[in-house]
Amino acid sequence: MAKLKKGTRCSICKAKGEKEKAVVFLPHHRLALCRKHFVSWFEKRVEKTVKEFRMFSKKDRILVAVSGGKDSLSLWNALVNLGYQADGFYIDLGIDQYSQDSKQLALSFSEKIDRPLHIVSLKEELAPIPVIDTVSNRPACSACGTVKRYYMNRYAKELGYNIIATGHNLDDEVAVLFGNTLHWDVNYLKRQYPVLEEEDGFVRKVKPLCKITEKESALYAFFNGIEYIEYECPFSEGASSIEYKELLSRLEEKHPGTKLQFYTNFLKNMYPILKEHEKKEKPKKCIICGEPTYADICSVCKMRERLKKAV
Ligand SMILES: [Zn+2]
Ligand SMILES: [Zn+2]
Repeated sequence: MAKLKKGTRCSICKAKGEKEKAVVFLPHHRLALCRKHFVSWFEKRVEKTVKEFRMFSKKDRILVAVSGGKDSLSLWNALVNLGYQADGFYIDLGIDQYSQDSKQLALSFSEKIDRPLHIVSLKEELAPIPVIDTVSNRPACSACGTVKRYYMNRYAKELGYNIIATGHNLDDEVAVLFGNTLHWDVNYLKRQYPVLEEEDGFVRKVKPLCKITEKESALYAFFNGIEYIEYECPFSEGASSIEYKELLSRLEEKHPGTKLQFYTNFLKNMYPILKEHEKKEKPKKCIICGEPTYADICSVCKMRERLKKAV
């Protein structure tokens, strides 16, 4: 985040004739804000995104995918403060210290805001990520993403939630968009929208932080006294998305607003064209577990088969 000049006043306070000093400067929005007004700016921005993409309303039951990191906890906090019915869902991936620490933080946060946290243990359901990693032919992050999506969707239905919200932020979305564009991966680009509609067996998935940067969500967590896990998952090391993030952040520093423009112009100019040419394939039911899939056997059941053979 750009440096704040000494003595800068909060833009909103100034307009009201107050003299509060700014503690944050958001160069891409040309806003200097005090702590209180940053927190309300953040929540208003989340609400605006929810409304812009018609993600959900106050009647919906929302399950927030909680990892123990700043994004998911900030999202959960903001949704509850905005008056939405949002509960948490945590998947214990069984990654040693990382999982123990992040679970503890997710749990104490759920107590703090007095909303339930549903916990699923991957070790009991399938196998912990380190074991899955040994039999998977894909990078650990991709296998992990697959199992998270599967159990999230399955439990959302079982527990009676009709919306799944994830903490993907602007930096995440831009890094993925950049990677997909570099490879002209049209099939992935077509799905890169902050709302994935509900369809046979799939619960609607939304990303209310898609216009919030990583730094903004860290700051929001800090100002609200939210404790979150600060180190990366040990399995994410070397992921290309991390390299893209570094590259794009250097660009952003020189040209504030680049990320937001890249993302929002994609949604406005490119996404509708891709969407128009989409041949919609209907999901089938996995012949083993009955969950929705585009193959005969879903990827989690395939994983389970591979795990059985490996024993
Ligand atoms: Zn202010
Ligand atoms: Zn299956």
